[in-house]
Amino acid sequence: MSRNFNVVVIGGGPAGYVAAIRAAQNGLAVACIDEWINRDGSAAFGGTCLNAGCIPSKALLESSELYHRAEVEFAAHGIKTGELGFDLTRMQERKMGIVKQLTGGIESLFKANKVSGLKGHGRLLAGREVEFVAHESKTAETLRADHVILASGSTPMELEFCPFDGERIVDSWGALDFDAVPMRLGVIGAGVVGLELGSVWCRLGAEVTILEAMDQFLFFADHQIAKDGMRHFKKQGLDIRLGAMVEGAKVTKSGVKVGYKDSKGKQEIEVDRLIVAVGRRPNTGGLLADDTGVRLDDRGFIQVDEECRTGVENVWAIGDVVRGPMLAHKGSEEGVMVADLINGEGAEVNYGAIPSVLYTAPEIAWVGKTEQEVKEEGVGYKTGTFSFMANGRAKAMQQTGGLVKIISSTDDDAILGVHIIGPYAGELIAEGVLAMEYSASTEDIQRTVHAHPSLSEAVHEAALAVDKRAIHAINK
Ligand code: FAD
Ligand code: AMP
Repeated sequence: MSRNFNVVVIGGGPAGYVAAIRAAQNGLAVACIDEWINRDGSAAFGGTCLNAGCIPSKALLESSELYHRAEVEFAAHGIKTGELGFDLTRMQERKMGIVKQLTGGIESLFKANKVSGLKGHGRLLAGREVEFVAHESKTAETLRADHVILASGSTPMELEFCPFDGERIVDSWGALDFDAVPMRLGVIGAGVVGLELGSVWCRLGAEVTILEAMDQFLFFADHQIAKDGMRHFKKQGLDIRLGAMVEGAKVTKSGVKVGYKDSKGKQEIEVDRLIVAVGRRPNTGGLLADDTGVRLDDRGFIQVDEECRTGVENVWAIGDVVRGPMLAHKGSEEGVMVADLINGEGAEVNYGAIPSVLYTAPEIAWVGKTEQEVKEEGVGYKTGTFSFMANGRAKAMQQTGGLVKIISSTDDDAILGVHIIGPYAGELIAEGVLAMEYSASTEDIQRTVHAHPSLSEAVHEAALAVDKRAIHAINK
């Protein structure tokens, strides 16, 4: 049996499903193949992001933060509660409800846009043919396509000396599904995932130790922001140990013994459960027949150019399986770009204006370059910062921790980077992204009216501070 499509997408995560919908909107006949199976045995579109990443983690971050705020902030508002408690089963059910609604939503969008959603395994063959094996059948079907988009995503990296056992040693997906709060929780890796998951369980009462090999906390973020973040996270009770290279882990009757090396020598901690959050690797196993001509780089990512072309005619690759930040919105925008390029339209992704967000409390978000990057490049720059301490809305919210920092070129006033730590930083950063996308100058933000009282006034004031013109702070 064989079917013909204009576009076949392999992978139905935020890169693949968005590419499929956009291509269908462009009037093309599209199939999207996805093999994701949830723990309850159900197949679902949405990939890591919807099923095991962005969405379930944000659901638990929200629940645990509300609980934590009730514990530590309500009294300041004059709110009295009885004895505070939480029901983890209900929290997990709420999380699953959101996941199911959103993954079900993709099926509806596929139907409405006439995308053929195919649940099973896809493998690229030579000559733009794709072998498809449905979950329920063992027979392979060949799909013929004018264009193939590879969007197979990524999987958590495992450390060979501490393999996942799904019980004591888990990956990020396992860590989102705990049915009880571990007393002692270890996390390997203080990256975005490690910090978010560590925060969830810390707020719910776990004693959390995060072991990070690097000496610099959040080395990829602006150092000033990272320093402020470290201060907040420590205050919340996260025990973050830097320069701690984990070298071994042993499951015992009572937990997991984790061995690491730091500047003082060999160390060991014992925890009840251990989350390994040391990064993700691209999914290419079983994706490519030997003779497709698609090339991988030395880290296993599919090689592509700026427009996500693999070098094999009409075969494209997008999302986590290619270079660039492993972020859902980066993959989605590549999906839109490729669908439009296939349609003969001009399209590009502005890789210089992709926001990054850590959904910790306070949130951390940025776009563009960090101060250390700008300094290293030898570019002339000036910075302006504004603390949420002096922001009326933040005060009313009882969330005054953090600051906004804008880095601007001394040459032409171009915005080089916007860095925020504070309440709703993940939302506020959109102003910086839009400003950079539209090549706005710092003066443009200075001259834009911001609602009062709003958190966005801190962005306004930081822009003013770049030229020592902040109104609600003393300009130094
Ligand atoms: P994926 O989402 O991994 O989807 C790929 C899909 O392809 C999967 O369903 C897979 O089963 C399927 N597939 C693979 N190979 C085949 C094949 N041969 N045949 C058929 N199907 C196949 N990013 C953010 O931007 N914001 C966040 O807040 C955020 N939070 C995260 C939290 C956690 C805990 C984790 C783990 C990740 C988080 N991420 C976040 C990262 C985000 O999930 C990924 O960047 C995003 O999912 C990548 O999208 P993708 O479509 O490239 O791949
Ligand atoms: P990310 O790639 O952002 O998810 O972050 C993963 C983090 O894990 C990085 O900061 C790494 O330095 C860290 N890491 C990787 N391997 C180890 C290890 N063996 N011990 C401690 N930290 C590690």
